[in-house]
Amino acid sequence: MKIAEIYRSIQGEGSLTGTESVFVRSSGCNLRCWFCDTPYTSWDPIGEDISVNEIMSRLSQWDCQHVVLTGGEPMLFAEMLPLCDRLRAENYHITIETAGTLYLPLQCDLMSISPKTANSAPDIHEHPHWHQRHQRTRFAPKVIRQLLEHHQCQVKFVIDSEADLDEVSAYIKQFPELLLRQIYLMPQGTSPTELAVREDWLKPYCEQQGYHYCPRRQIEWFGCVQGT
Ligand code: SF4
Repeated sequence: MKIAEIYRSIQGEGSLTGTESVFVRSSGCNLRCWFCDTPYTSWDPIGEDISVNEIMSRLSQWDCQHVVLTGGEPMLFAEMLPLCDRLRAENYHITIETAGTLYLPLQCDLMSISPKTANSAPDIHEHPHWHQRHQRTRFAPKVIRQLLEHHQCQVKFVIDSEADLDEVSAYIKQFPELLLRQIYLMPQGTSPTELAVREDWLKPYCEQQGYHYCPRRQIEWFGCVQGT
């Protein structure tokens, strides 16, 4: 499958924040969020075809039991099935980071879903084709239900403005099986300054609603750079 990068770092988002992990970042995405923080896996995908054997061999150079399969959209690749089987056989803890639009019957320890709401669509004038395709694809309730049914999940929403909060609330109501403790709201932004501006109103809102506020620690720690 096409892989943009494999590197060791620290998980900066969600329930495993602070956990040393190796990230396997697949390249290619079926969406085109305007705020994508890894455009080298969506708008301008880079990378090379790497086999499951080669990925396992590269992972073995680090003494690290947590593996994060991320993207792009890792669920685009059927090779994720044998990769997860191999990782499980070698007792790795597997997190999958997905936008929740595609389903694969794979095994993992944590399914980290980041659903894309209307705020994520690319500009209709600059990218008319991708705008349409993105809006048509971004919400797949059947897939979300399958993921919630078969995996331990966390659901992380990217919040750009206060106007997004009503949509997120309506979204959550459609999945009564989703528990408050599984819901994370994170600020949109690729610099500590942008994140801080949104944290001012988003953190109190999360406290009031019982959601987790989800800082994006990797941006505070490393900036928005490849390989972190
Ligand atoms: S789903 Fe993720 S990888 Fe794909 S365009 Fe959106 S932010 Fe980027």
